[in-house]
Amino acid sequence: MPIQRLAPDLVAKIAAGEVIERPASAVKELIENALDAGATQVGVEATQGGLGIIRVSDNGCGIPGEELPLAFERHATSKLLSESDLARVASLGFRGEALPSIAAVADVDIVSRPAEASAGAHLKLQNGAVVASGPRGAPLGTTVTARGLFRRQPARLKFLRSTTSEAGQIAAVVSHYALAYAEVAFTLRLDGRLSLQTPGSGQRREAVAAVYGVPAASAMLPLPNPEADEYANVSGLVSPPDVTRANRTYISLFINRRWVRSRTLTFAVEEAYRGLLTSGRFPIAVLDITLPPEEVDVNVHPTKAEVRIRREREVFTILQRRVRRALIDQAPAPQARVGAWTTPAAAPGAIPRPVSSLSPTQGRHLASTRSTDRQMATASGGTPQEAAPLLSRLPLLRAVGQVGATYVVAEGPEGVYLIDQHAAHERILYERLLSKPAGQAEVQGFLQPVPVDLTPHQAQALRAAAEALAEQGFSLEPFGGRTYLLRAAPSLLASQDAGRALVELLDMLAREEGPADPRERVAASLACHAAIRAGQTLGQEEMRELVKQLEETQTPHTCPHGRPTMIHLSAEALAKEFKRR
Ligand code: ADP
Ligand code: MG
Repeated sequence: MPIQRLAPDLVAKIAAGEVIERPASAVKELIENALDAGATQVGVEATQGGLGIIRVSDNGCGIPGEELPLAFERHATSKLLSESDLARVASLGFRGEALPSIAAVADVDIVSRPAEASAGAHLKLQNGAVVASGPRGAPLGTTVTARGLFRRQPARLKFLRSTTSEAGQIAAVVSHYALAYAEVAFTLRLDGRLSLQTPGSGQRREAVAAVYGVPAASAMLPLPNPEADEYANVSGLVSPPDVTRANRTYISLFINRRWVRSRTLTFAVEEAYRGLLTSGRFPIAVLDITLPPEEVDVNVHPTKAEVRIRREREVFTILQRRVRRALIDQAPAPQARVGAWTTPAAAPGAIPRPVSSLSPTQGRHLASTRSTDRQMATASGGTPQEAAPLLSRLPLLRAVGQVGATYVVAEGPEGVYLIDQHAAHERILYERLLSKPAGQAEVQGFLQPVPVDLTPHQAQALRAAAEALAEQGFSLEPFGGRTYLLRAAPSLLASQDAGRALVELLDMLAREEGPADPRERVAASLACHAAIRAGQTLGQEEMRELVKQLEETQTPHTCPHGRPTMIHLSAEALAKEFKRR
């Protein structure tokens, strides 16, 4: 076939396909136009997952009648004049592609009236061409209706998912804009049913309540006031560690008020929760990142969902640090009650193991812990609970099985225990590491030293904890710059890549969590690193061993970071729940 120029309407359809991938992309573009027009009310309707009708109406500035046809011409926009504008786009739209693209793949009706016009104007397009126009009575603002989306593109239709799933995507788009623009009142109707309504009060929390429900919204923590001289300003709401979801789609990021998808920045938010969430759980976050517009390139993706940030690494750090700060400062203590389940440290019903069953060394150990616990309690203003460790000893437990490859179910004289296998193992390893006198750590030496390159941050963490790391068996030698040679490592890490383990350990140490004392900090990080993970299937023997070792710890109910290792359902509560009493 010789080279030929494609027909203009085919060109238009190909280009449209990039902007309008699916019904939700049309909804997104129309909402962005409404927001760019300064609307305070945006109504969205869709039927059959957007394949029947999509209608977006707003009370924004409107389009003068004589400009209406121009709005449907490719690359016609009121938002961009020069190339220098492109370097710092402040509006959501700027390419003049959305309306012509929608008109290329659907039949479109638009009615619009600007404030100064006495009547509205109407335009009807089919197959991208105007087929009718004229004046029409209309409220202030703009209503765009798209019918029969992709009807003439059977190939595209084939690739769409079910109408239910497309409707879900539409709901996600509207929800995100509702979260980002709390000052705008959004309504969404799907197949005639009201599916979302936000008050438009300007209160972020109220928008979150409309989207994620009141319980989640009222638990959300605000980010502290930003530091004035930071490159990126981050504000918004994040969920406390006990309010989680099963996937990361509840992490919403807006850069200069544009909803963006960024794996990197989403990861920054996840990182801020490191150690606070069980694996497979994710936070809810609604975060506004404000950057100088010239620092962001929004012109990299046809749907503008991805942007390029000049100093992304810096934004990552600021985001992670600010979210972490909010969590550390404000997150409430772990919940003590989940229905009839309790954290046993607080449960008076937990039967202490009889003192006589302790070996003499255990008894001595216990006695000395009591006094140190008291000292710690006074020093940190702790609770009386900490001062009575005897009462918090575990009774003898029998491992029954495992749930979700994460929790071990055990029974004891006082009912049922659900033990978090990672937290429990962390506690066991932590106490074991700390009980070893200095210089007696079990060490594994390398025939070939392992070179490790550290970031400035990690190098700093290394300097701060050098002594404690050496005590646990790390033998490191400076090798110029930020490179070190690892000659030996704790044998606890034997099964792992020791260099990588060290780097991760340093990252853990650099985070503001866990005990303040460097020795305890190193032990806590090492324990966390070496402990069995959530998601790891355990055999009966391993479960039995875990429970037995946990019984032998001094403080079995919490991990070194203070999170519970177990929850307890007492025999009495069980009988009560089943109405046996
Ligand atoms: P862009 O948003 O990139 O400029 P569009 O094709 O989405 O391109 O829209 C073209 C132009 O039509 C916009 O620049 C704007 O002037 C006008 N427009 C579109 N939708 C609306 C609306 N809801 N309210 C006011 N003006 C609108
Ligand atoms: Mg637009």
